[in-house]
Amino acid sequence: MRCRMDKYRVRANRKVDLAKVDAGDTSEFKSVKGVKDKAAAEAQLQKLNKKIEQLQELMFAEHKHKLLVVFQAMDTGGKDGAIRDVFEGVNPAGVRVAGFKVPTPDELDHDYLWRIHKQTPGRGEIVIFNRSHYEDVLVVRVHNIVPEVVWSRRYEQIVAFEKQLAEEGTTILKFYLHIDKDEQKERLEARLADPEKHWKFSVGDLAERKLWSAYMAAYQDALNKTSTEVAPWYVVPANKKWYRNLVIASVIVKTLEGLKMSYPEPKEDLSKVTVE
Ligand code: AMP
Ligand code: MG
Repeated sequence: MRCRMDKYRVRANRKVDLAKVDAGDTSEFKSVKGVKDKAAAEAQLQKLNKKIEQLQELMFAEHKHKLLVVFQAMDTGGKDGAIRDVFEGVNPAGVRVAGFKVPTPDELDHDYLWRIHKQTPGRGEIVIFNRSHYEDVLVVRVHNIVPEVVWSRRYEQIVAFEKQLAEEGTTILKFYLHIDKDEQKERLEARLADPEKHWKFSVGDLAERKLWSAYMAAYQDALNKTSTEVAPWYVVPANKKWYRNLVIASVIVKTLEGLKMSYPEPKEDLSKVTVE
């Protein structure tokens, strides 16, 4: 797929207005026959999966770069699904998912970045954040868990933290999966209707849903204040899961290819080695 996914990237001169973002957009998808269909998209995703698998193997072998991929979304936005679909087939030895829930008492005794920093990737590793330090300017802001004077200075702190990670060799990508309120209703109803999905259903999600516009305002601020050259945000249209997956996988492939990685030279001269 031709990667013109850059149009979803939030830039200093291209601030995002979430009210104007079409969560059902699939505009960059052109299937081989020019027909927009799910099957063709899934075939393209398979090719991208294969590339991610190869690039991850190379990254692990080279043991130089570190990749951090952040996922944020409203409830039912598709974080778990995107992680499963985009990273299908990668070698678990070099990839790890870190999820961030309501902080524990021990975590609350520290600053909000303490638990985050501990989970960042080491050399050769890909770490995927399912929720992140952004919760500390999202749910925390919407529910006034800390006063405004405290959360409002976190944007700058987060930019500085991510800059430091980048300067020390971490490549950072951040994806906000954008669904609209109608799509969330459908997904919550689907969860309610399917006993196998009840474990994912939380009555608390309904209370959060009532705060939709406050969350959108918080997301919009977070996206516009913390999308930088070294840690860009992508606003991914996510009503259509297949399109969401294509956008994310395309950005990841392009980013990993941009690292110009190579397999390391053998530590010893192998040219005359034979195996008896
Ligand atoms: P889930 O990802 O559906 O298992 O839910 C995790 C819950 O933890 C969500 O409701 C998040 O908003 C919440 N959460 C994550 N980080 C924080 C935080 N720093 N402060 C308060 N709540 C959080
Ligand atoms: Mg949930």
